[in-house]
Amino acid sequence: MEELGREGSGSAMVFAKLIALVALFDLVRSASVAGSKLDDAAGFLERAKESEFFDWMVSVRRRIHENPELGYEEFATSELIRNELDALGVTYRYPIAVTGVVGYIGTGKAPFVALRADMDALSLQEAVEWEHKSKVPGKMHACGHDAHVAMLLGAAKILQEHRENLQGTVVLIFQPAEEGGGGAKKMIEAGVVKDVDAIFGFHVAPNIPSGTVEARSGPIMAGSGFFEAVIGGKGGHAAIPQHTIDPILAASNVIVSLQHLVSREADPLDSQVVTVAKFQGGGAFNVIPDSVSIGGTFRAFSKESFFQLKQRIKEVIIAQASVQRCIATVDFLDKGYPFFPVTVNSKALHGHFQKVAGRMLGADNVRDKKPVMGSEDFSFFSEVVPAYYYFVGTKNKSEGPVYPPHSPFFTINEEALPYGAALHASLAMSYLSKDHTTSPLTVEVHDEL
Ligand SMILES: [Zn+2]
Ligand SMILES: [Zn+2]
Repeated sequence: MEELGREGSGSAMVFAKLIALVALFDLVRSASVAGSKLDDAAGFLERAKESEFFDWMVSVRRRIHENPELGYEEFATSELIRNELDALGVTYRYPIAVTGVVGYIGTGKAPFVALRADMDALSLQEAVEWEHKSKVPGKMHACGHDAHVAMLLGAAKILQEHRENLQGTVVLIFQPAEEGGGGAKKMIEAGVVKDVDAIFGFHVAPNIPSGTVEARSGPIMAGSGFFEAVIGGKGGHAAIPQHTIDPILAASNVIVSLQHLVSREADPLDSQVVTVAKFQGGGAFNVIPDSVSIGGTFRAFSKESFFQLKQRIKEVIIAQASVQRCIATVDFLDKGYPFFPVTVNSKALHGHFQKVAGRMLGADNVRDKKPVMGSEDFSFFSEVVPAYYYFVGTKNKSEGPVYPPHSPFFTINEEALPYGAALHASLAMSYLSKDHTTSPLTVEVHDEL
């Protein structure tokens, strides 16, 4: 019995060891699966920081910076992107919306997750003196879109290196004309997000430290539109006003009345802006002009408030001008500058972002962002696909003064490039591995513009 018992006990031990071994094997296997699919946030960042990888992203960004191109004219930028995708072995579609490029990495099948970068520069003379200053007079990458392209190419490189582990397809969207031209709208009309289940995009943020990100769930950037009005009177001698109909005075009253829309008609808890930024009329000290033109922008965080403002801007301009016997016409310029909708972040994707970014940067470096009245044409995507837009810090503590986007002194701290590349890649890859808060993969219905 004793022997038998010992024997029995010995077999049990062997069996137990075998079970333990199998369990260990399973553990190692699942850890390696997790390592390749879920926990690569830190690994991706390390990869993007490797000197060869980093130097390549910097060179891409600098080449684009030296040759800035405006909306729908990004031909050289687009060619550079295609050359880099070719070198990486990534397939793509081109041209879309004139200069747009859309790359594909993964199985070629659903689910599809999209990453977006804008490519256009601004009509601005660069005032920063450095080796890679803009070589095109009057044009500058002063909004960081050169860095956005470099970081999305960085993500493409990482994802291509892990393509065997992708459980779906990553769609890389390089879009033209973010700065007022509605490039995102044209990309959507071309069908680039037709089968896409989620889309991520970001903007560089020079006001927050490199290694930190900011975002929020729900509306994050305002909807915006422009208006221009011509107020017509009757010109004449400035010393004989009774023989004129003075459009300068009428326009002045129009501008004052427009300020009442937000202060007296809008809900104080519903943020809105009406700004008259342009006033042109007259050219002499002693001549009352025939007409004056004024123009500006209006912003709101809901479709209802936006269209209420639009209607009232028109009514106020026409009616107030008529008080001074002037005739006004109002143009909302939406053919050349389509209204930007509100940028709304999906609640489900907010959870996914916090998880992935927290894993990569540490939870303390994933901060909440207050909504801003600026607007962004990524919002067009957020109207048709669950979308998420966030801000990637580029501030370097040791650098001098920080200049905001659209300043001729704007600079990018290139040390931040690996963060954008790794976040893009990690958000997409882990999304495809279903490492996101489960939600129906449908458009979230919302009321925003
Ligand atoms: Zn901009
Ligand atoms: Zn921008």
